[in-house]
Amino acid sequence: MSQQYNPVIGLEVHVETNTKTKMFCACSDDYFGKEPNTHTCPVCLGLPGALPFTNEEAIEKCMKIGLALNCKVAESSLFERKNYFYPDLAKGYQISQYRWPLCVGGSIEVTGKNGKKSTIRINRAHQEEDTGKLTHVEGRTLIDFNRSGVPLVEIVTEPDFTDTEQIRDYAKQLREIFRNLGVSNADMEKGDMRLEANISVRPVGQKELPNYRVELKNINSFRFMVAAVEFEIKRQIEALESGETLHQETRGWNEAKHETYLQRSKEEANDYRYFPEPDLPSLAVDRDLVKKLQEEARAALPQTKVDNLVKTYGISQESAVTMIRQGSDPFFEELVAKLGQTGISSQIVASMIINKKIDWQDLSTDDVVKQLKAQASQTALSSDQLEKAIDEVIADNEKTAADYKAGKENALQALIGAVMKKTSGRADAKQAAEIIKEKLK
Ligand SMILES: [Zn+2]
Repeated sequence: MSQQYNPVIGLEVHVETNTKTKMFCACSDDYFGKEPNTHTCPVCLGLPGALPFTNEEAIEKCMKIGLALNCKVAESSLFERKNYFYPDLAKGYQISQYRWPLCVGGSIEVTGKNGKKSTIRINRAHQEEDTGKLTHVEGRTLIDFNRSGVPLVEIVTEPDFTDTEQIRDYAKQLREIFRNLGVSNADMEKGDMRLEANISVRPVGQKELPNYRVELKNINSFRFMVAAVEFEIKRQIEALESGETLHQETRGWNEAKHETYLQRSKEEANDYRYFPEPDLPSLAVDRDLVKKLQEEARAALPQTKVDNLVKTYGISQESAVTMIRQGSDPFFEELVAKLGQTGISSQIVASMIINKKIDWQDLSTDDVVKQLKAQASQTALSSDQLEKAIDEVIADNEKTAADYKAGKENALQALIGAVMKKTSGRADAKQAAEIIKEKLK
């Protein structure tokens, strides 16, 4: 009999923060698309005797990310050396954080399949440095150290994800948070933001975590990540059902074949021999600064922005969420302000933007205001048409008209309602009221 399984998934997100200089030296951080090895110095090339120093701007951005994810910022924090040998890492170690991360213990709410909300725990958000970039050409490998030492924040969740909708929502929320905070463009194609997933499955009802996990690495789009995780869940369940034992391994995604493939198997428990970085002092965190960053982080949170839009414009929660995700919310606010008292409701404007009835990406708000006003004048009723509609309404509603004449004020509202209905909402209610009053004097 086939057993039921639940996926157990944790995510690691790396994001390069956009600072003026690199993490531990004065080289420019703006390396993308630049000629190889032009943004380097003895520190980020790992030359002997070169001493690193900490980039305050990067540390502040890391704290902002942590605070936006409801983490606590540590009182003090320390960098450590993560030792491993690979050509993209000239020093032979990466400066990272292990035992004393800057931000710990956060959480975020995600929406999964069928709109179900759940909480994902954030284990940590720590600061580290990026490595150089290897390019393999015709049997040779070229190294570009421009990226070496660029500030990188790693955000690690607990294994709380159970479906791929949650993963998609989480990754999108993170990207939105990075952009709103102004800490990164989070452009996945440029490698600003990179996703890794740890996936295993366990029988329904089992509380303990599985004794293996598969790491999915180097996936450069949300879509590929979702496809790869779905494939992996299915592959693992089928393997377990056919009696196989699953092992710790690293897999990649082959988009052409639409399947994951083995990269490294039987990975040993990581032996990076972490030890405190002797060339950098420990960080003592200023609590007033944390408070200030906390406020900035909160104001930039998508939920805060949603609440503000709903409250200010009386639009629906869904419309606000969609516009913020699209990035059309600044356009919406500007357009509503320019439309002023034209009688076009904010909700209608929002719906038009969302349903692409308004080309917010290519037009200016001034253009759209002109368009909408022209449309409104075309569809407005002439005074003859309005009068005719009112005559018909009065004839059809003799009793209501008589009630109004007898002094029942709310009968007027009923008549106006009937006029609005008859004209499909094109009549001006105020004007209609005046004409009705005049006619029933
Ligand atoms: Zn440098």
